[in-house]
Amino acid sequence: MSGPVLRFCSLGSGSSGNGTLVEAVAGDRTTRLLIDCGFALRELDARLARVGLASNDLDAVFVTHEHGDHAGSAVALARRDGIPLWMSRGTWRALGEQDRPPSLRWARDGETIEVGALSLHPFTVAHDAEEPLQLRCRHARRQLGVLTDAGSITPHLIANLQGLDALLLECNHDRSLLEASRYPPSLKARIGGRWGHLANDTAAEILAACVHEGLRHLVAAHLSRENNRPDLVRASLAGAWHAGRGDIVVADQELGFGWIAIG
Ligand SMILES: [Zn+2]
Ligand SMILES: [Zn+2]
Repeated sequence: MSGPVLRFCSLGSGSSGNGTLVEAVAGDRTTRLLIDCGFALRELDARLARVGLASNDLDAVFVTHEHGDHAGSAVALARRDGIPLWMSRGTWRALGEQDRPPSLRWARDGETIEVGALSLHPFTVAHDAEEPLQLRCRHARRQLGVLTDAGSITPHLIANLQGLDALLLECNHDRSLLEASRYPPSLKARIGGRWGHLANDTAAEILAACVHEGLRHLVAAHLSRENNRPDLVRASLAGAWHAGRGDIVVADQELGFGWIAIG
């Protein structure tokens, strides 16, 4: 069979809710993974319907950490539909839920998870959550890296983003817009701190450390509505992502972005 074998899209991206769909086709079998489920159940159903899917089309849900814009309705979804739900033990503890859904499974830094045709490689990041994990997804020698909600660069993070074909990269804020914003000082310190969110210039450093000839697709994600703008993101990343590589897709809070096929 010809055509793309690994593709991804977003149901929405930002501090009001995140959900990234990853799809792998192998023969007549399609594997679908939802990374983060930061919407109410009805909203999730509506957003899945926009791309022609229903929740029972999902083979698994992976929750990166317990913050509401990522964990959202994931546990309720697992209870309702019995979908396999992966997260770290720390994330589960931090959610403070009483009853473990039968489909809950543990994810851990460095331990590969097989979901149908997809191999998932979780890795630890610096973020103010109990045990946050971000992900590489591999299928048929193609690799997508997903990195949001990280406060700083670590050697471990950089090592995990090598050899990618596509990268979804948090570009949360512009430092000067955050500094000048009406946010209280404590919130500014949290967002801009080592365990917070990636500033555009830090995202650019990460990109520079993992860009290579084979990296063909770049998505800027989790943008702050108040403290960032797509033009500032593009300007920041331009040093590491020259124009000849194609446009940078900027993920939207409401619309996410459409399918990107990794050929
Ligand atoms: Zn977030
Ligand atoms: Zn977070």
